[in-house]
Amino acid sequence: MKKIPPLAAPAHTPLTRARLHDLEVCERRYWLRSVARIRWPVAPPRPEVEESVERGRQFHQLMRRHFLGLEPDRTELPARLAEWWAAWLNHPIPLPPGQRFPEITLSVPLGRQRLLARFDLLVLASQPDGQALILDWKTEARPRSRKRLAADIQTHLYPYVLAEGSAALAGGQPPVADGERPVRPARIEMIYWQANDPANPVRFRYSAEQHAANRARFQLLADRAEALQPDHEPPAIDDLTICTHCGYRTYCGKNVSPAAALEEVPEDETGWELALVKE
Ligand code: SF4
Repeated sequence: MKKIPPLAAPAHTPLTRARLHDLEVCERRYWLRSVARIRWPVAPPRPEVEESVERGRQFHQLMRRHFLGLEPDRTELPARLAEWWAAWLNHPIPLPPGQRFPEITLSVPLGRQRLLARFDLLVLASQPDGQALILDWKTEARPRSRKRLAADIQTHLYPYVLAEGSAALAGGQPPVADGERPVRPARIEMIYWQANDPANPVRFRYSAEQHAANRARFQLLADRAEALQPDHEPPAIDDLTICTHCGYRTYCGKNVSPAAALEEVPEDETGWELALVKE
């Protein structure tokens, strides 16, 4: 296993979905990626992966422009994008009247750390005590199952951050009562719209109970991040099911056959997120 040179103490980095996931599955991966900041690509990304990331980025841009009132010229869209755009037009998510926030970032404190979420679209319904919808676009070739989405830390992080940070969207309006915020957890719904399964959006209702459980979960992960020392490389884990998909597998000396090694590309590590999330 290679040694890493001593490092300066890292500045606190906001805990995004990818970082929380790293902390949960392998502290070493979090340390390598977010503390030591070592980039360790296994190999140059395959052209089809690069193309898929680029198409996803373009679709996110297209949807952002759509919700800002700028409609695309369909004749100028590349074939795949035109297909996804038609899928949205044929199977849109009905949205209540209210404020719409395309591609907005919210960050909320958690102890000495911050949690950060970048939303594809937030909708705050205009009626009193109305709904708050979080919409997330997915463009992966294989749509994700409800079970897989339920297990994704994004499904828990985004409603948590919205509930905690909603005062910023409500014009700085203070909590309506002790422990309450303009957007209450029970009014939040997260909806995944998958371009390759547009007729079957996957919805998750949020609740005060989930909010309390998430707070405890994220605090635990934030404490883990806090406890990591910049000059102390955490040990490798033994779970090959995780290492197989990890970009640091050769760095850690994990022998995984190239055929099995499909690299995990966290969404908030892809170009359109990196371009927008400032650290
Ligand atoms: S290869 Fe395994 S041990 Fe190494 S950082 Fe990745 S998940 Fe952790």
